Amino acid sequence: MSFHTLGLEARILKAVQEAGYTEPTPIQTAAIPPILAGHDLIGIAQTGTGKTAAFTLPILTKLAAAAPGPRRTRVLVLAPTRELAVQIDENVRAYARHLPLTVATVFGGVGEHPQMKALGAGTDVIIACPGRLLDLMGRRHGNFSGLQFLVLDEADRMLDMGFIPSIRQIVRQLPQKRQTLLFSATLSREIESLTHEFQRAPKTIQIGRRANPADTVTQLIYEVPKHLKPALLAHLLRDPQMDMVLVFSRMKHGADRIARKLEQHGVKTATLHSNRSQNQRLRALNDFKSGAVRVLVATDIAARGIDVDGISHVVNYDFPMHPEDYVHRIGRTGRALAIGDAISFVTPEDQSDLRSVERFIGRGIVRKRAEGFDYHAAAEAATPDERRHPRGGPRPGGHGGRPQGNRRRFGARFSR
Ligand code: AMP
Repeated sequence: MSFHTLGLEARILKAVQEAGYTEPTPIQTAAIPPILAGHDLIGIAQTGTGKTAAFTLPILTKLAAAAPGPRRTRVLVLAPTRELAVQIDENVRAYARHLPLTVATVFGGVGEHPQMKALGAGTDVIIACPGRLLDLMGRRHGNFSGLQFLVLDEADRMLDMGFIPSIRQIVRQLPQKRQTLLFSATLSREIESLTHEFQRAPKTIQIGRRANPADTVTQLIYEVPKHLKPALLAHLLRDPQMDMVLVFSRMKHGADRIARKLEQHGVKTATLHSNRSQNQRLRALNDFKSGAVRVLVATDIAARGIDVDGISHVVNYDFPMHPEDYVHRIGRTGRALAIGDAISFVTPEDQSDLRSVERFIGRGIVRKRAEGFDYHAAAEAATPDERRHPRGGPRPGGHGGRPQGNRRRFGARFSR
């Protein structure tokens, strides 16, 4: 299948070629024709499938075909996080580079004046987080009377983050006659009811099994007591193949601690979480993309928008509490057609969450022992603080400091 058979505009095809894409991904093949035909669409697809291009390319084709008129905002994309908004913006700009279109982002944490100006100027494509946009719309910025396309990206996450009331208020101010595209990693009952509210006779496309992690990702579990996690991570990072590593921490403070520990081991590390300013977050992401740092430690929310090519490994330093988060996290590697590895540290306390993930993805995940990692020596070397207060969880209690005891305990608890 080639992009040329999908009905896209020549200048957009040129930009796609320049982006280095040789053929459309499955979601692009499935989504582009119905969007070009004017249908509302529900796209069930996880991150990394190429969904941004799947909605952007046909929208740009339709914008390019329209007769020139006064400049008015014609496309509104709503996204849950600033990082995701920035990335959609980068994508749209790349695909629209040969078109005379204007693009702007609207989100909190940065100055509002440029955003007001962009809204006032009738910028063709606005990519926004719901909170700041609603705030500015409430102060009469932006004119959406000419809006033709509304995209709700990562709708499941916007729902989780409590954005639906804001989205409702925004949508109420948009023209009824518009094309609405909704993307979500999962199709829950709540998402379905949103589609009834916001869309008309939508077509549904689903890529892969629901919540099925990208097939190209190799998944592994390392069973490890909490207090050995820092040493195990440092040990694994001795492998030079782990050259671009995204580490997930459950808590912001945990993320900072992991980063400090890695820096002590001489591993260049940046962090991404909501306690950091927008500029710090963008710098962390840029340093990671450019290779200035090898490891990026992030929390789930902050990592939502991460779209970085070439992530070699995702490490679930803290095992996710929700299976959906597992799928999102590991979707960060093995992106598009690259091969990646997803490594999860699993403590005895994570056992039931691991079972939920395995049920959710419909298969078991391989357990592995870290080659060359001396569990005993690492336990001896763990600081008293680590032994007493293992990262991100309760005190060790029953599973005490003796490594042998831990191992036996794992042996018993993890045998299947
Ligand atoms: P997304 O799912 O939109 O976050 O996209 C995932 C990644 O795939 C991004 O880095 C895109 O640049 C890349 N991508 C999108 N479409 C294609 C394609 N047809 N071929 C290769 N890479 C693509």
